[in-house]
Amino acid sequence: MAQHTVALIPGDGIGLETSTAMRRVVEASGADIEWEVVEAGAHTIDECGTPLPESTIEAVRRNKVAIKGPVSTPVGKGFRSVNVALRQRLDLYACLRPVLSLPGAGGRYEGVDLVIVRENSEDLYAGIEFEEGSAETAELISFCERAGAGAIRPDSGISIKPVSVTATRNIVRYAFDYAVKHGRSKVTAVHKANIMKHTDGLFLRVAREVAEEYAGRIGFEDRIIDAFCMNMVIDPTQFDVVVFPNLYGDIASDLGAGLVGGLGIAPGANIGSECAVFEAVHGSAPDIAGKNIANPTAEILSAAMMLDHLGEPACAARIRDAVRAVYGAGRVLTADIRRTTGSTRAAAGCSEFADALIAEMTA
Ligand code: ATP
Ligand code: MG
Repeated sequence: MAQHTVALIPGDGIGLETSTAMRRVVEASGADIEWEVVEAGAHTIDECGTPLPESTIEAVRRNKVAIKGPVSTPVGKGFRSVNVALRQRLDLYACLRPVLSLPGAGGRYEGVDLVIVRENSEDLYAGIEFEEGSAETAELISFCERAGAGAIRPDSGISIKPVSVTATRNIVRYAFDYAVKHGRSKVTAVHKANIMKHTDGLFLRVAREVAEEYAGRIGFEDRIIDAFCMNMVIDPTQFDVVVFPNLYGDIASDLGAGLVGGLGIAPGANIGSECAVFEAVHGSAPDIAGKNIANPTAEILSAAMMLDHLGEPACAARIRDAVRAVYGAGRVLTADIRRTTGSTRAAAGCSEFADALIAEMTA
């Protein structure tokens, strides 16, 4: 088996616990990984003056593959979000989030197997915002009025929503190529084109153009975001690959996670042409950090995606089989899953859950 070097960003909050659990489980899967541990988050500010040190970005660039625990963003330190900054700096334009039923995890549905493909670089996440009462905001308001674009109340804050042909084409192509490569049959594009003609309307138009290139091979349909949400709750098994602009993709990720058992089990990946950074959908959950009660499954399943990406599908399968076995048996489960399943049995801690996976793999 080949040895791989991977940058590991443990993050903060529950990331410290889930990353430790993930690392132990990956090592028990037989994968030969050398970890280059690098830091990001509030705790690096004292030493490096920033929550996202250049040396961390460099380590990801050098290794091309990274796995990352959640990183919370300290208020007022030059970043709106460390996670968003990392995605932008490394041009990780595609966010991939499988939503897969996991029997025993307390999901509302069986047989869900869809993939969320979220645009990762623009939309309302571009971070272009103007504060209420500022001179720039006043100028923008007067520009909109002069241009006949509509009246904006003077006491407004403004966020800009850029949606480009380039980024849309890239993300929709990514979704279709993913469908081809993974034997999937349909791509659904989600938008609100009836209200936002020049952003979501553009997204839908470009999605239709790209869909033409795959006609006869991969099916295509579109849904308005509100109808999509309703349809997801009624029957999520009707979706296959679903492609979103950034913000709707963020919200749909939590919706999807909730339908199959919660944030504790939802994995993800951020993919660029040069690098890939694997990370759970959830954030740093400060409310439960440091108590050894977080569910590490999401980060562990993110690691399985990473192992597939590294060309180690047997190790990835070993981890997924162990996850399915432990959930199926129902004896060792973390508190979040005990809640969704309504079980009154004692919950396992984060580290005990990892122990159970390792025992399953080495049995
Ligand atoms: P972000 O803005 O980064 O998405 P957030 O404020 O939405 O962060 P999350 O950390 O994503 O918060 O999680 C929301 C809640 O879900 C947490 O407060 C926590 O109670 C629960 N949660 C999230 N991840 C886990 C996990 N791995 N195990 C158990 N509970 C979790
Ligand atoms: Mg969240």
